[in-house]
Amino acid sequence: MTSISVLVFKCVYILLLASLIFEMNNSQSEYRVWKWKNVYMLHWILNPGIAFNELFLGQRMPKILFVKEDATKTLSEKSFLPCPHCGTIHPSLEWSSRNKTAFGNWFGLYCYRCGKIIPCLRNLTSFIIIAVTSPIWIWFEKKWKEKWLIKQKEKFSKPLELSVPEYNLWTQGLRIGIGYYVLIMFTKFVIFQETFTWKKPIGNLVESILIGLVSAAIIKELAFKRKSAVRKTSELKS
Ligand SMILES: [Zn+2]
Repeated sequence: MTSISVLVFKCVYILLLASLIFEMNNSQSEYRVWKWKNVYMLHWILNPGIAFNELFLGQRMPKILFVKEDATKTLSEKSFLPCPHCGTIHPSLEWSSRNKTAFGNWFGLYCYRCGKIIPCLRNLTSFIIIAVTSPIWIWFEKKWKEKWLIKQKEKFSKPLELSVPEYNLWTQGLRIGIGYYVLIMFTKFVIFQETFTWKKPIGNLVESILIGLVSAAIIKELAFKRKSAVRKTSELKS
């Protein structure tokens, strides 16, 4: 029974992943507003692996994302974050490893224009961990937040690098593979409490690597088709 449930779970996840890849690559409309109902955002909320990104790395996803539909651009290039406090529309590229702003956003995403916090989504697993451990950290939260705000002000006072970084397709595939692996391990051993044998995690590791590779290949194929379509259109125009 549990193996059927895991199989169903896997199928649902793979379908979700496929629609996510197609949505990111094939959307035809010019401009979109992404909220929690969007598949990319839902993935952020539901995948237990994201709890690691949120709690340990301090990576966050805003509640609202404006995504320009430009087929030749990656998500980080074409997405923007509105600050609900001052109305500034920030390019996503402001939060990057190069600017040292991609991580450490435990209290949310800092708006350097008004000094307030842009509200973020909360991953379900993170939410549960935060709620359960709250008696430990609640006493330090205020002080910690004050220090964090000073640090953000300092980080964002430096000029931000907004040029587009080199997009690595295989890193993207690797991320998808890791996300899938964590999710399946969590489903099998935490939700369905299957008995542990070494065969299971090793088998799933192979499966995750394959899924990562296939996803990267699909993204590459779609990006290639898109770029050549754009090239053809611009050749026709000129
Ligand atoms: Zn603001």
